[in-house]
Amino acid sequence: MSKTIFEKIIAREIPAQIVYEDELVCAFRDVNPQAPTHVLIVPKQPIPRIGEAQPADEKTVGHLLLKAAEVAAQLGLQQTGYRLVFNHGPDAGESVPHLHCHILGGRKMAWPPG
Ligand code: 5GP
Repeated sequence: MSKTIFEKIIAREIPAQIVYEDELVCAFRDVNPQAPTHVLIVPKQPIPRIGEAQPADEKTVGHLLLKAAEVAAQLGLQQTGYRLVFNHGPDAGESVPHLHCHILGGRKMAWPPG
């Protein structure tokens, strides 16, 4: 299987602005930001999408969510707020088949999402 674009970022094969990394996850700025702060946090182990995560991925997915909140706070979004988004499949607009959580903040967001 060929590497996903996010695996290439993790392997430093393509550049990205990495804002956080540990043994399980990597967080980097989205190349096409949809808010003043737009970061993606991904597992280093390439789970395709949230609906395909397995019971064995529980530690990784739980860790990813806790770190998403930590990264949001580190980026100054704790008081003003932020949104965490997982897109699963075509109706949600998923475009990269490597699980990722969008961390969006720095502006007022609409609800329901478009
Ligand atoms: P999705 O639409 O799958 O939920 O989100 C994929 C995200 O990955 C998009 O917001 C897109 O801008 C971002 N993205 C795609 N390719 C790259 C890349 O090469 N580098 C970075 N930093 N982000 C990317």
